[in-house]
Amino acid sequence: MTLINELLLLIAAVAIGIGATYIILRRQRLERDARSKESPYGTSTEGEKRCPYCGMFNLWTDRNCISCKRKLPG
Ligand SMILES: [Zn+2]
Repeated sequence: MTLINELLLLIAAVAIGIGATYIILRRQRLERDARSKESPYGTSTEGEKRCPYCGMFNLWTDRNCISCKRKLPG
């Protein structure tokens, strides 16, 4: 194998490595973006439910938010 062939092989391997790293990073970024679309608030805490729209604490028995009157999850 000549030096030129070895260099070309090395360049190809580096290019594949960079491409694979790019694909992995892009997939991780997409997964992170998909996760961040969820509400930052937990659905419920001890004895109270938090409204995902306005963040108001409601009793866990409430069906609608006491502040914005929207339907609560759960
Ligand atoms: Zn609300």
